[in-house]
Amino acid sequence: MGQGSETLSGMAEMAEDRCFLIDQMIQDYQDAKKLTGSIVCPVCGRKFRKKTKGHVFCSNKGPANCKDTFWNLTDETRRKRAKEWT
Ligand SMILES: [Zn+2]
Repeated sequence: MGQGSETLSGMAEMAEDRCFLIDQMIQDYQDAKKLTGSIVCPVCGRKFRKKTKGHVFCSNKGPANCKDTFWNLTDETRRKRAKEWT
C-alpha cells in the first residue's frame, strides 16, 4: 500500500524507471553493508572483497568514483521526493 507505480506517460515511465533503479541501488547498498567477504558494488556491479565492515563501494577516491556517484544519485532522488511529498 502507498507505493503507487502507475504509468502515466512515456516521460513518467522513464522517471519511474530511474527511481526504480536508484531504489534498487539503495537496496543493494543496504544489503552490501550487512554482508562480509565478496560483494558486488551497488553502483557499477563490479565484484570485490570487502576490506572493512563499512566498505561497500569498489572505489571511493578519485573522479567519478562509485561512492560519490551513489551519494550524488541518491541525494538527488531524495531531494526530488521530499519536494513531491510535501
Ligand atoms: Zn563500483
